Amino acid sequence: MNQQPAYVELIQRFREFRLLESIGALVGWDQHTYMPPKGAGHRAEQMGYLAKTGHAMLTAPRIGELLGELEGLLAQKATDAIEAVNVREIRRTYDRAVKMPSRLVEEIAKTVSQAQNVWADSRKNSHFASFAPWLEKIVALKREEASAVGYKESPYDALLDEYEPGATAAQITRVFAELRADLIPLVAAVTASSKRPRKDILTREFAVDRQHIFGQAAAAAIGFDFQAGRLDTTVHPFCSGIGPGDCRLTTRYHPRELNQGLFGILHEAGHGIYEQGLDAELFGTPAGSFASLGIHESQSRLWENQVGRGLPFWRHFYPRLQQTYPGTLDDVELADFYFAINNVEKSFIRVEADEATYNMHIILRFELEQALMTGDLKPGDVPGAWNDKVKQMLDLTPPNDAQGCLQDIHWSMGGLGYFPTYTLGNLYAAQFMQQASSSLGGLDEDFQAGRFGRLKTWLNEKIHKPGQRYRPADLCLRVTNQPLSHRPLIAYLRKKYEPLYGI
Ligand code: ZN
Repeated sequence: MNQQPAYVELIQRFREFRLLESIGALVGWDQHTYMPPKGAGHRAEQMGYLAKTGHAMLTAPRIGELLGELEGLLAQKATDAIEAVNVREIRRTYDRAVKMPSRLVEEIAKTVSQAQNVWADSRKNSHFASFAPWLEKIVALKREEASAVGYKESPYDALLDEYEPGATAAQITRVFAELRADLIPLVAAVTASSKRPRKDILTREFAVDRQHIFGQAAAAAIGFDFQAGRLDTTVHPFCSGIGPGDCRLTTRYHPRELNQGLFGILHEAGHGIYEQGLDAELFGTPAGSFASLGIHESQSRLWENQVGRGLPFWRHFYPRLQQTYPGTLDDVELADFYFAINNVEKSFIRVEADEATYNMHIILRFELEQALMTGDLKPGDVPGAWNDKVKQMLDLTPPNDAQGCLQDIHWSMGGLGYFPTYTLGNLYAAQFMQQASSSLGGLDEDFQAGRFGRLKTWLNEKIHKPGQRYRPADLCLRVTNQPLSHRPLIAYLRKKYEPLYGI
């Protein structure tokens, strides 16, 4: 198979497309970190050119011919052989790209670039009415996209498939319903408890340069390789895997707030460790690429929450944090610090939510998005529907739309179908971690001694190296011997919160 000229040509073409994309990723990283403001116009032109050229490379009819030729030959190959995986996943990407009429691609691109500016103003003024016509346009375009791409059951499936290959709204609805049924009483018990952490602990003076040094040391300790990556500052944190040996993390700091910078770094480093764990020799092919956004998010949440908000982690790092800020945390015991970083509190804003209530924010968005896609919910009625759901799930009433349905950028970017991947990430993280703990044993002892290598190596082998060999649901089954379930996440949350809140 390797010798097949058709396979060699297919890989060469697809790899060139991915190379161009990685140049776009680097240019995009620069735009958010070091580009001078006056460079924006030229940068937009560069990005547009790269996107257009990439799309033409990907949709070249020759790729379709090569795929057709190879698919006949592949019937006898094991489905997880590298060649079979690459042909299968290139087919998936190619089909999606060619099914989208170029007029639609262009219209979506134009609409979302304007809609993001409108959204930013609407949010600033908490004025939904000005964003409503844009949301209407975007939903109409996404419905058009769904019918162009095709789906079996629900138009939402067509959108999900871009982020979480193989996942369906029906499957996600099932697992989210089970999660929700167990989360609601857990959150109610926690919030009814009279035990509360001291919140002042995390809002003291924390000089930003020291946050950077501490965060970088923590990221290196858990296994992010700074010879193959770097950490910079941006408004919105992200991780960008440029290619083998080059992965860029960004974070933001607040001088009187420890959480944001520190856990932001652990989160992005988790994404980065995944990128650095991909098979470098397979760069540019599906077998050397991440499995899905949900799996990517599982790696960030695993290091940020499962490890980084755990007591064993802080047994090691807390004395070092105290030394980093002499005098600032002298009066704070480890137990109180640990409670403070695990505060549970119902709130309006998703990105500020704790590990337990976070998923409620996602479930409500998932339900609204599906209703928008089926037409059951009119875009103009979103604020009322949003507030009803927040009342139902969190027993809160948003004071305005800025703290309600206008808070997230996703819809203005056309990212319908994206939100569920965050909670899928939490679910996968808990399930993977449960498996790692039972397979490896002694992880708590490792962490409190500052050793993270055994866990990282396990993740490298089980999750990172396979690339796209298995679809997310199959990967989960292979790694944990169980289909995705809400149980490991609920068990993890109970184990953490019951002793903290005395419930
Ligand atoms: Zn993330």
